[in-house]
Amino acid sequence: MILIVDDTPENLISLKKVLEIHGFEVDTASSGEEALKKVIKNAYVLIILDVQMPGMDGFEVAEAISGYSKAKETAIIFLSAASTGLNFITKGYSSGGLDYITKPVDMNILLLKVKTFYRIYEQSRKLIEIQEALMEEIEFRKRAERKKDEFISIASHELKTPLTSVKGYVQLLERSIDKGDIPTVKRHLEKAQLQLDKLNDLIADLLDISKIESGKLKFTKKNFNINMLLDSIIEIIHQSNPEFRIIKTGHVAQEVFADEMRIEQVIVNFLTNAIKYAPGTTEVHINVSLEADRVIVSVKDFGIGIHPEQQKNVFDKFYRVEETAIHFQGLGIGLYISAEIIRRHGGTVGVNSTFGEGSEFYFNIPLISMTEQD
Ligand code: ADP
Repeated sequence: MILIVDDTPENLISLKKVLEIHGFEVDTASSGEEALKKVIKNAYVLIILDVQMPGMDGFEVAEAISGYSKAKETAIIFLSAASTGLNFITKGYSSGGLDYITKPVDMNILLLKVKTFYRIYEQSRKLIEIQEALMEEIEFRKRAERKKDEFISIASHELKTPLTSVKGYVQLLERSIDKGDIPTVKRHLEKAQLQLDKLNDLIADLLDISKIESGKLKFTKKNFNINMLLDSIIEIIHQSNPEFRIIKTGHVAQEVFADEMRIEQVIVNFLTNAIKYAPGTTEVHINVSLEADRVIVSVKDFGIGIHPEQQKNVFDKFYRVEETAIHFQGLGIGLYISAEIIRRHGGTVGVNSTFGEGSEFYFNIPLISMTEQD
């Protein structure tokens, strides 16, 4: 918008008319004081300022508004009888410009200058926008880089722990074999196997992350019975966590068309988290139901729970609740992978939790997920 400041009403009206005919939005002020009030309230691209006015003259007005942040980009064209006196009011104009036109006003020249200032204004606004976007991008990348560094150090540590255990068991095995102590050999082998399984799971998760990143996470969908899948998962999880009772409720008779192994991965992740983050408890509930052609699976524990402000982050890549991270091993990628699998089946994931009381993680997918939601 352009602000015309002139104490002569005829000048105001005629200038306004010409500029409006050429498509500019125009505001007017008939004194320096009124102009100042308007500049505080509105943002102007350009002010056309009469120099000779009673009360505050044009130069004084320009001086006064030079400090306003709103007027930092505003250009000023003085309408004066002579071109002298412009030097002393140049302070404070960062990207706005200053120019003058002598009276009587040549409308063609005025229009030319107005158009130029508008073009400069548009260009500088675009530059500022680009600069802001770039700064945001730099900040985002720096944050991502920091997260990645953190992740690499956690991942190396997580991988090293089972590896060191396996090395230890192999050394013990050597001694037990030398002694011909077969029962001990078997025990060590079982323990080494457990650590190798852990290592295998960690590496599988890392591979999944890189598949997601490169768009190579593919699904093989077929019909399967979700009740049977749940029963088999519960049996396997119970075997490795015999102290936990996993109580299943609900029943879905219809077959589900989805990637069975990937859905299993999500449920296993929910269940192992429910056990991991609930030390000292012995019960986990799992429910399956059908609602409007969608299968809903929820896993409820009575463990440490999650604060409300942290709940929205748990499905983010590399996110781990800081206060509890030191007490539990993990990479902070299981839920991210789960959320991605469910999203690509056209479903959603979520969590309800009360800190100190427990959490309920759930997902829903359509009975038939024909298309991948990318
Ligand atoms: P990980 O368990 O390897 O850290 P996840 O992606 O599975 O990674 O989980 C991300 C974070 O969410 C965990 O670090 C933990 O802080 C929190 N979390 C997940 N499941 C639960 C749960 N059942 N109870 C409390 N906190 C949980």
